[in-house]
Formats: sequence, C-alpha cells, structure tokens
Amino acid sequence: MYRKNAWNKYDAKQVKEVMKFSEGYKDFISFGKTERLVVKESLDLLHAAGFKPAEEMKSLKAGDKVYFLNKNKNICAFVIGSQPLMEGLRVLGAHIDSPRLDFKENPVYEKAGFALGNTHYYGGVKKYQYVTIPLALHGVVCKKDGTTVEVNIGEDPKDPIVGITDLLIHLSADQMAKPLAKAIEGEALDVTLGNMPLDEKAKQPVKANVLKLLNKKYGIDEEDLISAEIEVVPAGPARDYGLDRSMVAGYGHDDRVCAYTSLRALLDVEPKEVKYTACCILVDKEEIGSVGATGAQSLFFENAIAKMLALAGEKNPLFAARLVMENSKMLSSDVSAAFDPLYASVNDPDNAAYFANGIVFNKYTGSRGKSGSNDANPEYYAFVRKAMDDNNINWQSSELGRVDQGGGGTIAYILGNYNMNVIDAGIPVLNMHAPMEIVSKADVYEAYRAYKAFLLA
Ligand code: MN
Ligand code: MN
Repeated sequence: MYRKNAWNKYDAKQVKEVMKFSEGYKDFISFGKTERLVVKESLDLLHAAGFKPAEEMKSLKAGDKVYFLNKNKNICAFVIGSQPLMEGLRVLGAHIDSPRLDFKENPVYEKAGFALGNTHYYGGVKKYQYVTIPLALHGVVCKKDGTTVEVNIGEDPKDPIVGITDLLIHLSADQMAKPLAKAIEGEALDVTLGNMPLDEKAKQPVKANVLKLLNKKYGIDEEDLISAEIEVVPAGPARDYGLDRSMVAGYGHDDRVCAYTSLRALLDVEPKEVKYTACCILVDKEEIGSVGATGAQSLFFENAIAKMLALAGEKNPLFAARLVMENSKMLSSDVSAAFDPLYASVNDPDNAAYFANGIVFNKYTGSRGKSGSNDANPEYYAFVRKAMDDNNINWQSSELGRVDQGGGGTIAYILGNYNMNVIDAGIPVLNMHAPMEIVSKADVYEAYRAYKAFLLA
C-alpha cells in the first residue's frame, strides 16, 4: 500500500496491537541510552528466543539461531535458512549509536565554585538543543585491574540529574545576535556536576567532593576516567506524544527504532519459513562515519560470515564469505527525515516522507548531487516493492530533503561495496538528532512488518 495512511487500515484490534508493540519499543529505548545498553538488551532478547553464541556451535544447520558479539557494542544474529549460505543472506542492518555528548579523557574541572564535566560532542548535534534540559550520565569506566564499572546516573526518579547552563535572556544581547551555529560553542557544552565543597582546606574542594562521591559509588579515581566511555544523554524515559498517543517522543530513535524493529523481525520469524539465512546486524559509530572496529566498515561482519561458512564445512571460508555477501540482499534500516509542516520549504513535497504512511525507502541519500550515496538499483527496488505489496504493508518513498538543502548518509554504501543489493529503508523521524525525537507508532509497526516480510522474501 503505497502512500496510504496506515491508521485508516487498522481495525480496533489492530490499533491495540500497534499500541502494544510501541510499549515494547518505548521500554527498549528508555533503557538503551547507549550502544552498549542496546547490545545488552538485544542479548537478553536473543537469549530468550533461543539464540546461541556462535562460539558454542560445532556445526550449523537450517533452523539454527546464532549470534556474534563484537566488543559489547556491535552484534549480528542469524537464523539459518533452508538454502545453502552461498545463496546469500537477507540482511537487516541498523545502527545503535546516537548523537550525544561524550566526556573527555580529563573531564572533571572546577571553576567559580562549580565542578564541571568537560565534553566533546559525538555526531551531528545542534548544540543549542543540549542546554537547560535534564541530562543523565551513562557508560563504563575500565580500571587497570581489568574490571569494568557501569555508570548510570539520572534515570531513576530518585537520582539527581545533571545539565548544561545557558545564559539568562537578560544578559544575552551579544549571544542573541549570533547565528544559531555559533550561539552555543562546543567548548561551552560542559555539564554541571556539583557545587558543594569537600571542606575548607581541600584544593579544588568542589571537584574533590564530586570525585569522592564517584569513588564511593563506583570505586573509581580521577585517572580511571581516562579509560572510560561516559555519555551525556537526555534523562528520562520515552513517552507517548500527542493527545491521541499516536506518536512516541524519545531520545535515540535514530537509529534504535530501526534496530528494535529489525531485531524483533528476526526474533519473530518462524525458523521453518526461513529460506535464505536471515540476519540482523546492529552497528556502532554510524554517526561519525561508520569507522573503527565496531562500525559498519569493520571486517567483523565479513569475518562472522566466514566463521559460519567454516562451521558449515566450507574449505575456503573467506573467499566464500565474499560470494555470500555478493549474493545477499539488504535493507539498510535507518531513519528518514519526516515532512515537518512547520518547515515545509526544505522538502520537495512529492519526494518527502510523511508520518503514518509506513516504512520509507530512500533509493539514494547523500548530498550535493547524491554524493556519498548508495543509490539502489531499480531492479532490486522492484523486488522490495513487491515484497511490501504482497504483504499489505504501508510504505512510501522519499529523498533526504530537496536538492542542495543538505543531506546525509547511512551504512548502505558500505555493504554495497561488497556488491550486495542494498536499499535504505526506515522510519520517518521528526526532530532528527534532537534530544527529543518523534516517530509515529504506525510507522514503527509497519516497519517491523516490512522487515519481517523482507526476511522471508
Ligand atoms: Mn541514522
Ligand atoms: Mn543520524
């Protein structure tokens, strides 16, 4: 069903089902504030559905469910199909990192009676959106003795929150005259951590007090913060949005909404029905270029396929892995920019994504003449359209804003480099990259149905 409002399709029972599905999703993003936390809850879901770590397998046969975990920030899971692996996979790939502020290696300092946390932003953020909102601290501190401490401050309603100050309007004459991009500087995005001195004699007494509290709670000292990943993210759970509760407001829809729906699709397919081995891969670092060991450009995925081929008895698994990739089909599950009636001019209305019209396909993304885009093959797009229509799924097509307005990229081209057929397919988002992003519950549900249909197509 192309460009039809999904709410019109649902009967009362289906509306209930859509609402129920979104409750599971709200829990998922309310907990999954970092890539590590998303991996953690994904592992819980995989284990509950009977998936096993590939390292435990001695062989592989149709119907087996396995996963590979990469450094606690990247995971891929497979349901082995009835066809040989060589026939290719059906891949759903989403990213689980989201824009945020990261603590620097030497984060804590004291100034004018305040202890502050120095940050460096991660991914594309409009800096002014991060001031004067409740923020939480999440992450890990890795100690020299080999232990890792998990930090989580600001989510429990009894916890304190932190935040970043902004100038009062009364004294903002200079600031208000600056362009938005300059009004809040990156180095000004420092988090207020405390204001109470340890005692009169201590050097930097407020900082000393904060470090003492961290030591008491987590057993860490200042130097341990060097080998740490502390992420400053919006505090609080995802909420229903709109008087009709048709939408979800939350942090990190990009791209955890596609991660959740893709993973749920894999968990919910009936193994007996899986012809081509079904896969869901969740990657890190997309927001900074898909680089590094846990990003989509890592050899992790290729190695995982080679390891599966070895388990299946393949003599030359690395070469075979290349052929498997070449024969695979993929939906690059990532969010799209939704048409915002308040900012209509940035879109070509005929080629924009609209809330509640279902999963959105982007033949291409990129910027300035499609630069950096995967630009899917129309032969493959036709295959995907058929899978959608055969399953009565609401779907739409869009590009990322009108020509020369801006643009963006996804992981699609990286898998495309393996000569894989890939198209971007995801959920329209309002306020993308803001601390509070919005999605339509109907789109979340239709994307889940679409991903499931694709895995079996
Ligand atoms: Mn994204
Ligand atoms: Mn993004």
